[in-house]
Amino acid sequence: MSDKPKSLNFLEHIVEEDLKNGFPKEKLRFRFPPEPNGYLHIGHASSICLNFGLGERYGAPVNLRFDDTNPVKEEQEYVDAIKGDVEWLGYSWDTERYASDYFQQLYDWAVILIKRGKAYVDSQSSEEMAAQKGTPTEPGTNSPYRDRSVDENLEFFEKMKEGHFEEGTHVLRAKIDMASPNMLMRDPIMYRVLKKAHHRTNTDWCIYPMYDWTHGESDYIEQVTHSLCTLEFAMHRELYDWFLDQVYNPSKVRPKQREFARRNLSHTVVSKRKLLQLVEQGVVNGWDDPRMPTISGLRRRGYTPESIKNFADTIGIAKRENLIDVSLLEFHVREHLNKIAPRVMGVLDPVKVVITNYPEGQEEWLDAENNPEDESAGSRKVPFSREIYIERDDFREEANRKFFRLKLGGEVRLKNAFIIKAESCTKDADGNIVEIQCAYDPKSKSGSGTEESLRKVKGTLHWVSVKHAFAAEVRLYDRLFTDESPDTHKDKDFMEFINPDSLKIVTGYLEPSLKEANIGDRVQFQRLGYFCVDPDSTSDKMVFNRTVGLRDTWAKIQEKA
Ligand code: ATP
Ligand code: MG
Repeated sequence: MSDKPKSLNFLEHIVEEDLKNGFPKEKLRFRFPPEPNGYLHIGHASSICLNFGLGERYGAPVNLRFDDTNPVKEEQEYVDAIKGDVEWLGYSWDTERYASDYFQQLYDWAVILIKRGKAYVDSQSSEEMAAQKGTPTEPGTNSPYRDRSVDENLEFFEKMKEGHFEEGTHVLRAKIDMASPNMLMRDPIMYRVLKKAHHRTNTDWCIYPMYDWTHGESDYIEQVTHSLCTLEFAMHRELYDWFLDQVYNPSKVRPKQREFARRNLSHTVVSKRKLLQLVEQGVVNGWDDPRMPTISGLRRRGYTPESIKNFADTIGIAKRENLIDVSLLEFHVREHLNKIAPRVMGVLDPVKVVITNYPEGQEEWLDAENNPEDESAGSRKVPFSREIYIERDDFREEANRKFFRLKLGGEVRLKNAFIIKAESCTKDADGNIVEIQCAYDPKSKSGSGTEESLRKVKGTLHWVSVKHAFAAEVRLYDRLFTDESPDTHKDKDFMEFINPDSLKIVTGYLEPSLKEANIGDRVQFQRLGYFCVDPDSTSDKMVFNRTVGLRDTWAKIQEKA
């Protein structure tokens, strides 16, 4: 990460203020609270970096807490994926917790609330309850069950728990104020009947606590000091505090909820529900499809944890929502891979070049530097022979003076090799160029120190030796959505903006050193971009993913030097 001293964000200022007012630093504790109903995405990365970043800054423990109160949507697969992603980002949690660990405690507290007349069982339908909610400007109406006796409430609540009632017939509600200007305070639901097995508690429970009742109390049980969540919970803060008031013991730490803005990334959606839709409808090949903005998708695409953390650091924490351009994320991965990725050569759209004055059957292995940004990366040997491939796009029969690649009568340097001059080309019946004939200057070998080797020519091309190159599948990705903000249109569903060309598969011809690459290895194909080895690779066929091109082709932001 960067060495620059970071300025504090507004949440860090809140913590600093608490410390200044005498709160003991050793009591600070944070949590990251994902619901295991999908894979983590780049928006979560901001929350992870925020919470674990606070932990690092203050040497405070951070819990990983699964907010698992809705068995209908939650699964063990998601729990495992979330843990893997947080670890991969390089963070370690203090303890792994589950809201479901607290089901009994929450139930016991709910019984206490009933006994104190602070909660009641409502036996109306959800439609009836909705009709009584009122509007932001008009108060709601009390439920006819609001004044049930404590004994009756206790009996009904127990029966709910024991499975006597069907879903939707009874709920437990907090008895607060049906006239509160905050609609969330109008007797919010604390429990509902759900006859669904839970991925951890199995069929132990058939009533499940609601988010608001669970979250603050879980923070309290864990003695979390600062419970940081996104802005849509700002209105929930009053309820968070009300629920805490019911159980708070002044000898303990009282958690405080504070809110920050959700991070949205352009040309994608950051919502587990919508990402699930992409997976279920087969728009992508799973949660870790390299086009997905999930942590696992980015990992498979070739992103490094550092690049994601630097991105999160750069955008920081905000009080208001805005759209972050995906090119900023790409900038950060490019910047990191430039430092660490070995350079190699591969040709993705080949045309054959025959070096007519190079002896047939001869080959030589030339020195090639692995990374000009990192001397310690050393060098490798690349084979050169009479027949090579270059990119089709790098040759023109005729071109103006601004075309620095190969043209008839013109010269270029082959990277790590020789200067060649194009003399003629052959075409097929349709006029497509099938072969280019060139002459090479044997004295111009790169690094040989001769006068010819130092001669400057305008263009340098990447290439591979036909005889030595091997074919691999190369997956070229583009943005998943054509629209910058696909899920913000009132009249159109986000699925209407799927980019039909988000994946293009080509056969690339790669230098032989790449045969040794392992799954996940990241390289720069010179002049083309950064690529990594996909887990779909087999011993017969390697598969490479393009992480990002060398330059921002969409040119949305200016790359800062
Ligand atoms: P989703 O809508 O994708 O399911 P969520 O907020 O319901 O998101 P949770 O699993 O509840 O997902 O989120 C865990 C934590 O990550 C929460 O504190 C949440 O506020 C935070 N978070 C989720 N999405 C973002 C985002 N886009 N930007 C910043 N923080 C986020
Ligand atoms: Mg959620």
